[in-house]
Amino acid sequence: MSEEKEDNVKVVVRCRPLSQKEITEGNKVTVKIDELRGTVEITEPNVVRQEGMASHAGEPKTFTFDHVFGMQSKQVDIYNKVARRIVDFVLEGYNGTIFAYGQTGTGKTFTMEGVRTVPELRGIIPNSFAHIFGAISKATANVTFLVRVSYLEIYNEEVRDLLGKDQTAKLDVKERPDVGVYVKDLCSFVCHSPDEMDKLMTVGNKNRVVGATNMNEHSSRSHAIYTVTVECSEKAVTGKTMLRQGKLHLVDLAGSERQAKTGATGVRLKEATKINLSLSTLGNVISALVDGKSTHIPYRNSKLTRLLQDSLGGNSKTVMCANFGPADYNFDETMSTLRYANRAK
Ligand code: ADP
Ligand code: MG
Repeated sequence: MSEEKEDNVKVVVRCRPLSQKEITEGNKVTVKIDELRGTVEITEPNVVRQEGMASHAGEPKTFTFDHVFGMQSKQVDIYNKVARRIVDFVLEGYNGTIFAYGQTGTGKTFTMEGVRTVPELRGIIPNSFAHIFGAISKATANVTFLVRVSYLEIYNEEVRDLLGKDQTAKLDVKERPDVGVYVKDLCSFVCHSPDEMDKLMTVGNKNRVVGATNMNEHSSRSHAIYTVTVECSEKAVTGKTMLRQGKLHLVDLAGSERQAKTGATGVRLKEATKINLSLSTLGNVISALVDGKSTHIPYRNSKLTRLLQDSLGGNSKTVMCANFGPADYNFDETMSTLRYANRAK
């Protein structure tokens, strides 16, 4: 793998702590994390070795990643080690995407959004607001910035504007040679402070609930994309003005849990198939980008990857944070998340 490619796509993993409920129920931890070496060791619980059994069964399996965040990791560690460089890159006029992947309940929303009212629990999204406006406030007088925000959701391969007036409208994904892939009629709002960006997030989150009959189920089945566009115009001493634009996509993905297990049928099963399609396409796109040899990157196979096409690969930087829980009853899902992340790196 060349330096450059490795740099452009990074896969990190994060393990949340056992919840109070998991502790009370006496769940065991099946993972061992070594942050310095960047490894996760996972052991299948309750494997009683029998004769004739494959020799690897019940033995711990070790995965290695660019960064591994253990149960004690702090929000600010994640920001400084994986998100900060992407935001800096966007401020320089490039595109970047940060994804949170994982089974429902493993900390995707905690990682991306966190608890916005508690400074040390703020996730990547609110930390990026402060970072962006901090950088802007330090800019010299010949440089001006314009920050715009949009917020959308992909549910069942349909795009909904979380900041739009009509929450029932389904938006089309279009493509034009001059602007590339875009969402037709998607609202975007100019922001002048972290506080304004935060308010838009609150509005969007409320709208997410409005459209849903069961919020938990809905958020676990939809992808939320909060996009910040930073335009910069710089007046050179020659009097010439230079324009550059960077885009930052902050993506809280649908839950990766295998839907077959939930016994879904009919509409539910159709939905489930679509979630799996977009997550597996995303995995394929990222591994094709990392591989670097593929001539065909399957962006078009899902709305998610199509929409993010100009911010995945090429000159852009991507970070995927795969989240998992430490408890033994999650072994299968955790294993599947680690495999997904391992393939994507
Ligand atoms: P997801 O979005 O993947 O469904 P959440 O982010 O909602 O999961 O997390 C599930 C629960 O676990 C929440 O109560 C959240 O506060 C808690 N949690 C997740 N990650 C952490 C963490 N790293 N440290 C402390 N609590 C966490
Ligand atoms: Mg969530």
